[in-house]
Amino acid sequence: MRICNDGNIDGLYKIAKTQKCQDTLLAINYRVCFVGENRLIFLPGEIEVKIASEDMDFFSSLCECDVIEVASTGQVWKRFEKKAGDNTLYITDKCNSNCIMCPMPETVRKNGLEVIPERLWELVSYMPSDLPHVTITGGEPFLAKDEMFNILDYLKRKCVSTEFLLLSNGRAFSIEGYAEKLKNTAPARFCIGIPIHGNTASLHDSISQTDGSFNQTYIGIKNLIKQDIDVEIRIVVSKLNAAHITDIAKMIVTDFPKVSSVKIMAMEMLGNAAVNQNKVWLPYDEFFDYVKDAVDILVEGLIDVAIYNMPLCLVDESYWFICKQSISDYKIRYFDKCDICKVKDACGGVFSGTYRFLEESINPINHD
Ligand code: SF4
Repeated sequence: MRICNDGNIDGLYKIAKTQKCQDTLLAINYRVCFVGENRLIFLPGEIEVKIASEDMDFFSSLCECDVIEVASTGQVWKRFEKKAGDNTLYITDKCNSNCIMCPMPETVRKNGLEVIPERLWELVSYMPSDLPHVTITGGEPFLAKDEMFNILDYLKRKCVSTEFLLLSNGRAFSIEGYAEKLKNTAPARFCIGIPIHGNTASLHDSISQTDGSFNQTYIGIKNLIKQDIDVEIRIVVSKLNAAHITDIAKMIVTDFPKVSSVKIMAMEMLGNAAVNQNKVWLPYDEFFDYVKDAVDILVEGLIDVAIYNMPLCLVDESYWFICKQSISDYKIRYFDKCDICKVKDACGGVFSGTYRFLEESINPINHD
């Protein structure tokens, strides 16, 4: 979305649709975007912007106290939406690993958004306190170091009922005292999601393209579990580790029996994954054959397990109950032939970035 902006409108704004809401937000020093009929008023400053009626849907769909960001170029992004099932707090593009199948390109990791503390503090101060679920992600959020703990501590007090999922490579928690700091600062409803790429250092490190990362992640997970922090282990299945998924499952049952869950995930073919397609792409119709035994091992080990990002028609029906609708709304695609599928409502579809690989594999379900 783009609006007419001569450079005077810039930064985060809370949405107001009534005078009462507008006055309340201004009184506590928020910048406000008042949504009127075919016009927006940015306050303070009272800058009025006319909006074409076909563009009003974008603003009309927002609730009061939702948050938008406006660039001086006129570009507008939704930052926090109360009615969204999940919202994202994005910390940085930077990462201390460079996974070969990451959906972000290496150039963004190297040259993208740094950790900017002032920006992060403004974002969390504008974040509504009653969002149902927030994913904190990057890049690697703990490149923000102590600032990340300070932000979590602030969110713990501000968002008492929000469920937080923080995605990290877990390496920072091999540092003595880090897991304890997280225990002391994490919000009440908090889980950390950490990927494991292999059951050996050589396999894991070859996928993270970072020597020593397996040992750091392994020690990090141990330290977090010792502090009673909820840890979700994520396994992204690629051509490089598909033959080792059962070994990874056995390692989790033996070494990390207290993890809160394991998510076994199909790849999104963007960024590094697309660049390294020949090395990493595992056809989706082979995914379940590799994954089935690992699921059974985890279930027998009494570990909660789920499959993410897989269309139901490529998973054995008796395992559909562990398949989650895990793809973010704006990335979901279905095929024309999905219209005749009897389980479309229960199916999470496929990633828009992976769509081009799947036309041949997808098979609508016709039986009751
Ligand atoms: S045919 Fe389409 S809707 Fe049906 S399970 Fe496959 S991907 Fe999902």
